Amino acid sequence: MLTREQIVTWLMACAEVFQQERDFLTGLDSDIGDGDHGINMQRGFAKVAEKLPSVADQEIGQILKTTGMTLLSSVGGASGPLYGTFFIRTAQVADGHQSLTLSELHAMLREGVEGIVARGRAEPGDKTMCDAWWPALAALADAEARGIALAPALAAALSAAEKGVQATIGMQARKGRASYLGERSIGHQDPGATSSWLLLLTLARIVE
Ligand code: ADP
Ligand code: MG
Ligand code: MG
Repeated sequence: MLTREQIVTWLMACAEVFQQERDFLTGLDSDIGDGDHGINMQRGFAKVAEKLPSVADQEIGQILKTTGMTLLSSVGGASGPLYGTFFIRTAQVADGHQSLTLSELHAMLREGVEGIVARGRAEPGDKTMCDAWWPALAALADAEARGIALAPALAAALSAAEKGVQATIGMQARKGRASYLGERSIGHQDPGATSSWLLLLTLARIVE
């Protein structure tokens, strides 16, 4: 079970993680984009951390919806609307919940990723944040089918996401700014896939 308190702890911890990893993410985005991804994530989650105390005692849907709306209004570029949509869509699945089972968490993240795809039209191998999420979702589906507990299931999802991030290095970007580079985008790790992996890493640390 993932509790409401753990969801709040996760999102607050994300603010710290994106503060710590700001320069790393910005460095990745400097290679194939405009060098602002770390700044975008740091600024967005700093705003989320400011807003969270006002909704921390509400149900999970409200917490996630507030997170999404905050990201949508405070982060520009591609990642703001995409992560904003992600959290707003997860909120729809978590609506009314005080805790989540593995199956509910899986359904929630799947819905969030569907929101990213509905907005950004990414396909597998396009070198986007989805290339971290899709393998993670597959690992969660597998864990769920095998009746694995939440913590090891998330550990498996994290490891799958990490492989997905590594695989973006060899991909040519077909969405977002990096796609303007054409073949020159090959050989670099995707910043958005990396921040998605960090979101999962932070969640996995909370439940272990
Ligand atoms: P911008 O490119 O506008 O400066 P960011 O640097 O914050 O925005 O985010 C870039 C990341 O957004 C990319 O590394 C990629 O993972 C992700 N991204 C861009 N376009 C898409 C898309 N259409 N679908 C999914 N993810 C995308
Ligand atoms: Mg950028
Ligand atoms: Mg930008």
